[in-house]
Amino acid sequence: MANGVKYFIGNWKMFGIPSSNKILYRIERFFVNDKKHNKKYKIIIAPPFTLLYDFSKRFKNKKIQISSQNCYEKDNYGAFTGNVSPFMIKKLGIRYVIIGHSENRIIENNKIIQEKIKLALKNKLKIIFCIGENKKQKKQKKTFIVLKKQILSGLSKNYNLKNIIFAYEPVWSIGTGLTPSVKLLKKNVVFLKKFIKQKFRLNYNPKLIYGGSVDKKNAKDFETIKELDGFLIGGASKSSKNFIDIIKNFYK
Ligand code: PEP
Repeated sequence: MANGVKYFIGNWKMFGIPSSNKILYRIERFFVNDKKHNKKYKIIIAPPFTLLYDFSKRFKNKKIQISSQNCYEKDNYGAFTGNVSPFMIKKLGIRYVIIGHSENRIIENNKIIQEKIKLALKNKLKIIFCIGENKKQKKQKKTFIVLKKQILSGLSKNYNLKNIIFAYEPVWSIGTGLTPSVKLLKKNVVFLKKFIKQKFRLNYNPKLIYGGSVDKKNAKDFETIKELDGFLIGGASKSSKNFIDIIKNFYK
């Protein structure tokens, strides 16, 4: 499964002010001019909550999609100070939401993540569902156990998994400059796709991207993993140049 569309998804984390829209305009210009490849991939950028409305309006009829970085585990409105429901995100015209990012899993357990996914799907948001083992779990060779548990506790059997992009993000790789070898990443990607396909009785291949210190060099190395459907890119997505270089190198 290599021939499907690839995803280059940028996670800005706690970064960006209104004028940061220039980063998106540069990326969008690159995309439009990249006529040779641009039918083969999609770009999604996840700015912080504060920029969602502005960016969703600016890029409504453009080629870049906007994603939320998270949502709250309650729907509609309520007395939950500082939180934003999937309903409120959807009403901004946003189509995607990241759920289960390891930086949020520090305070969110599997039950909370399950609830978020349920409500996001109810509101017709597409989900970028992050899973990944930490350093200790990797050392103890528990990677597959952890990944299976995260998937099974987050999802119900009756979900339409075409609305979910799995993002395999080893926690030890996020923001550290460390990445799995091509061999190890391929092994984990193949395992995950097979597991999801079997467990949810899919007659198609689920979408699965990789995240963790992706840069222009390792993106090219990982391009050889045909089962991989793209990348979730943190640090490097804050610079239009770094983000564009990843795409350029990937297709070089
Ligand atoms: C992320 O935040 O999802 C991520 C992968 O970050 P980084 O690329 O900075 O490791």
